[in-house]
Formats: sequence, C-alpha cells, structure tokens
Amino acid sequence: MRPRVADRSTPAGNAGAQFAKCGEAVSSDSLHKILGQLLCLLGFHDYHVISGTFGFGSAGNVEKMECRRCGYVVTRQA
Ligand SMILES: [Zn+2]
Repeated sequence: MRPRVADRSTPAGNAGAQFAKCGEAVSSDSLHKILGQLLCLLGFHDYHVISGTFGFGSAGNVEKMECRRCGYVVTRQA
C-alpha cells in the first residue's frame, strides 16, 4: 500500500532515456573530432584566447591563443 515502489520506477525510466541520448551525443561528437583534426592538419585551428597581457607602454598587447582541438599554441601581438 506504499507508493514508494511506483515512485522508484519512474526515475529509472527517465535515466534510461537519458542514457540513450548520451550515446548519440558521443558518437556525433567523435565524428566532429575527426573533422576537427582534419581542419587542424589543413591549418584551420580553433583558437581561443588563454591569456592576454595588456602592456602599457613599450611592449603592447600580447595574446596567447590555443587551439581547442590539438593544443597548438600561438602568441600574437596586437
Ligand atoms: Zn588545431
């Protein structure tokens, strides 16, 4: 006569559905990774700024950028 048993089955069902979604996301993500590696080989890196030094005076601004996919790091002066 306790409603606990019914409560238990509902979240388990939801978790199963979420796992199925997760599997799809992983497979499409790995495909994306392969495409990304190809782009890196061709020289199209996916840069994001990891540190920016804003020099006042002589040096000027220096930005350090890293490729999200292969980890290639470049430093550029702006
Ligand atoms: Zn790269």
